[in-house]
Amino acid sequence: MSLPSAPTSRSERYIGRFAPSPTGPLHFGSLVCALGSFLDAIAHGGHWLIRMEDLDPPREMPGAAERILHSLHAHGLRSHFPVVWQSKRHDLYQQALQQLRARDQVYRCSCTREQVRKAGGHTRDNCIGASGPYALRFACAGTREGFADIWQGTQQQAIDEDPILKRKDGLYAYQLAVVVDDIAQGINHVVRGADLLDCTGIQQSLFRALGAEPPHFGHLPLVMNDAGQKLSKQNHAAPLDDSKASLNLIQALGFLGLRPPHELAANTPAHILAWASAHWQRKAVDRHNRLLD
Ligand code: GLU
Repeated sequence: MSLPSAPTSRSERYIGRFAPSPTGPLHFGSLVCALGSFLDAIAHGGHWLIRMEDLDPPREMPGAAERILHSLHAHGLRSHFPVVWQSKRHDLYQQALQQLRARDQVYRCSCTREQVRKAGGHTRDNCIGASGPYALRFACAGTREGFADIWQGTQQQAIDEDPILKRKDGLYAYQLAVVVDDIAQGINHVVRGADLLDCTGIQQSLFRALGAEPPHFGHLPLVMNDAGQKLSKQNHAAPLDDSKASLNLIQALGFLGLRPPHELAANTPAHILAWASAHWQRKAVDRHNRLLD
């Protein structure tokens, strides 16, 4: 798999994905994202794939990746292609960095966060950090990116800091790997949680810098807890109970605006997903983050 050297046009067939980071087991909010991305792909005659974003070992929980795959499987959400693991794709990320370096779009920076902020987000010509380990930054601060989000509408994002593509500790950054893999896997629709909306401008800019057309983006509403925070591993959202897969799916469908008939809950996940693919409507999804009904 190599990155395109010239702009590629989107392939006709919809290709979507779910790309969890194995920092903990899936919770109900992650099921909503997995299900939304799956249904949008299937309802558009597309393919859907799972990519394991195991890029950051210090943040990972042992066994979480396998548990996530087990949960997805139990809920009938199966990748149409073999699951890709980011930990096995470092060569591809390195190659992308070289491509950007050849175009003078990355630079070394040893500044601290505070120093970068004081330098106005862009330290290419005035890196003031002490010598020592350096990060690689993508020069894009000061530009703007616009896109039409499927659910969140027209977006305009000003990029105010050059993002890190490779960290000082030598790890490849999420922003780089996610874009490189979306390009390499021919992803033309990214459906994910609204917590990632703010990263999209940077990613769009990176798609172009790597010679690829950005995908369509759709950011789904987040499931909130009583304290008004999104469900997350950090605030101890309960792990999905795989033995209640059908019930979990029915509840997630409700959150996404579908009204499955009562008796569907007694069916298998495969049946429920077949019903949901036939009834999926983007416009039924309420774009606002909210509690579960
Ligand atoms: N791996 C990221 C996460 O779990 C999601 C990446 C994406 O969907 O773009 O938050």
